[in-house]
Amino acid sequence: MTHIITSLCLRDSGCVEVCPVECIVPGKPQEEWPWYYIDPDTCIDCGACIAECPYDAIFPEDEVPSAYTAKGGEFISKIGLTGHYEGVNHHGDAVILDCVRSLNAGEEVDLTEDIQPNYDYFKTGPGYKSVE
Ligand code: SF4
Ligand code: SF4
Repeated sequence: MTHIITSLCLRDSGCVEVCPVECIVPGKPQEEWPWYYIDPDTCIDCGACIAECPYDAIFPEDEVPSAYTAKGGEFISKIGLTGHYEGVNHHGDAVILDCVRSLNAGEEVDLTEDIQPNYDYFKTGPGYKSVE
């Protein structure tokens, strides 16, 4: 198994520093890979990253919700969305995303769609050589 970063990720970067096997990388180019991604072949399922995420974006793969109920006001980030997000990451650096949508309270979204991109980033995407 692996842990999965979902589209609730807003590139805060906090999870990267706690991963003992350094298998979390920022998606690049950001316009095509808006989240951070976990290399499924390297993740040891320690769970340390979950508590570090201020947006509750990380789940064990078998617990990614197919019907995530939004609290309201959180953002999802996906290619094709046109909303704009500006924030600050764990290091105080600006984070700007142009492919977001804010969620309404009580809205349900399927986050299992976000599992495959975590694999794709490393199998066929630009992360192929980012984790040796
Ligand atoms: S801590 Fe959460 S928001 Fe930040 S990069 Fe990791 S998954 Fe994304
Ligand atoms: S579960 Fe552990 S090994 Fe896997 S990405 Fe998170 S911190 Fe890294």
